[in-house]
Amino acid sequence: MAMNSPFDCVLLDLDDTLYPGDTGIGLALKRNIDEFLVTKLGVTAERAAAMRVELFRTYGSSLAGLIALGYDVHPDEYHSYVHGRLPYDRIAADPQLARTLQSIPQRKVLFTNSDRAHMERALERLGIDVAVFDDVVCFETMNPHLFGEAREEARANFGDAGEHPVVVLKPSVDAIVAGIRAAGTNPRRTLFLDDSERNIAAGKALGLRTALVGKRARSKEADYAMESIGSLRRVIPEIWATVEQPELGIEKKGMRSDLAPIIQPPTVQA
Ligand SMILES: [Mg+2]
Repeated sequence: MAMNSPFDCVLLDLDDTLYPGDTGIGLALKRNIDEFLVTKLGVTAERAAAMRVELFRTYGSSLAGLIALGYDVHPDEYHSYVHGRLPYDRIAADPQLARTLQSIPQRKVLFTNSDRAHMERALERLGIDVAVFDDVVCFETMNPHLFGEAREEARANFGDAGEHPVVVLKPSVDAIVAGIRAAGTNPRRTLFLDDSERNIAAGKALGLRTALVGKRARSKEADYAMESIGSLRRVIPEIWATVEQPELGIEKKGMRSDLAPIIQPPTVQA
């Protein structure tokens, strides 16, 4: 364990964080969602794109919006349609990332809004064994009430009353809390990596240390920023503090000024 690291756990997003944002997967996802809206809801193709944007803005995702508005969409049906047909071959194997993840001494939790099937396919393409993570927080674990008996019960109870189940996804407070629970430690000692500024802001608001991935510049709520996950070691070496600096503990380089007074040895006065 990295005793001198400021972190006890690393929470990692999957999509556009563990693989680049320019694979075309995101575009294909949007196209699939639009198709889903046309096919299942009967909206026009022109209306679908605007509706998708509006649902995302208001409810966090298209699925969350559809369920909130009372559409009887099963998450599995939605996910197999919009995720199941993605061009996964555009995700390239990343053996360096696999090694980096393995070398992180802290607890590691994959923290994604995506469904488990998508997560498994994306990780398989990356060449990352899901077992490298100590825990997984994904769509299914955040939303057990949308499946099986719980779903049937909710439909029976609320179906006619105009109330619909809430879909729990980042950046909602409930989702971030699910991540913090899985981290199992003080949020101040948990590092949260995500490519979404919205998610980073939500994590920061609940006390997490934050790293924005896929961006050169930090957003206001991000403690760190890196253009790609490949720069993790260079940008946040303190994850491996003890491993890399056995004598000195945490080195000053890369340290944020607000932490520096806590961990740097006091100056000896002559
Ligand atoms: Mg993401």
